[in-house]
Amino acid sequence: MPASDLLTAAAVPRPIQVVIDDVGWWSGKDGHTRNEPFRTGMPRNHVPEDYEAIAQLGRRLGIRPLAAMVLCEWDRDNILRREPTCTWQGEAWTNACWRGPWLEQAAEVLGANRNHITLAVHGTGHEFWQDGIIERAEWHDVHGRMRPAGTVRRHLDLFGDLLEQNGLGSFPEYLVPAAFLHRFGTDEDGFASIAAEYGIEVISTPFHTMHRDREPEAPHFGIDHGVLTIDRGADLCSWDAAAPEPQGAITGVVCGMHWPNLLHLDPAHNAEVVERWARFLTPYDTALDTVLSATPEAWVRQALAREEVSLGLDAGVFRVHIHGHSGKPARYSDMRFAVRVQTAEPVAFISEDHAKFSVRRIDTPMPGCIYELSFALNNDGPASRREIRLNVTAQNSGAPR
Ligand SMILES: [Zn+2]
Repeated sequence: MPASDLLTAAAVPRPIQVVIDDVGWWSGKDGHTRNEPFRTGMPRNHVPEDYEAIAQLGRRLGIRPLAAMVLCEWDRDNILRREPTCTWQGEAWTNACWRGPWLEQAAEVLGANRNHITLAVHGTGHEFWQDGIIERAEWHDVHGRMRPAGTVRRHLDLFGDLLEQNGLGSFPEYLVPAAFLHRFGTDEDGFASIAAEYGIEVISTPFHTMHRDREPEAPHFGIDHGVLTIDRGADLCSWDAAAPEPQGAITGVVCGMHWPNLLHLDPAHNAEVVERWARFLTPYDTALDTVLSATPEAWVRQALAREEVSLGLDAGVFRVHIHGHSGKPARYSDMRFAVRVQTAEPVAFISEDHAKFSVRRIDTPMPGCIYELSFALNNDGPASRREIRLNVTAQNSGAPR
């Protein structure tokens, strides 16, 4: 049987990253009618078990959810007094009521689960208090006008100080703009260029509401001062829905949610909600054309590969074409990505040109077999444009048929 008959379909699978916003609040109270932040809208305080829920989802699925953090209620020394626009109390900011053993307990959960939770920047106080009056939101206003550059830098500095106060690790590489208010493609001293100074490599926000000075390079993906900007698409649940039953379809590269969506009103029952999400997400990991990314870095690499790799089948040979992308950060210049192939029966793959790849068969309820081929290619400069040719043979046949 020729390869063209053995191979029924192939895809560069769409990677899916779980991103959870508004993690970090201790109070759940939506305070926006009282000049306070929206917070999570959860009708209870948050507890260290709520961090454990994120880790459980990560362990259960073998992934690292991104936790987009708001850190003002972690302030042990009231340092946010230094920048009155960070909180509703301005220069009189005091966080005494949230100093307690839960800080160490939650920090311990985060520290012990670095393989199952990655922190992202969301904000210090999430909103912006201009002369003491709340405005949406911390980084940009509702018209997409950035806060003054110096103020943005002070907020990011303070976010870093709050991480340090609490031993929460180094400054994140990922950022979710508070209230999804963001402006893409600003010439100089725009938000992406300032964020890049702090080591931010990826900003993820919904493109359908994103303000912009130019169009991104692709419909769901752009590069802004070297910062990869990735469309979050639409969340499946309302921001304040506690313990929902996940429904609908993830159509982009992010499964975006807010903290209450993963939690139960009784923290002792958090695991039930985590299990609902795990069951909802698992089919995306065993399909031909989607994959749950094991790490945020793998997510970014696979999202890039979707722009840079195409597949073909000619004369019985399965071809993986690679064409580079100009302007992407050097960190991602070598390519690591996965391709999935559906076949009618068990097969083996043999490279005509000794390209290195690994193969794993996916345990799937789909008909036939699904294989994942993982490639790791060095950057060979502009000539990295290349093609990998694979012969597909029925397993144990010994030779191509
Ligand atoms: Zn938020």
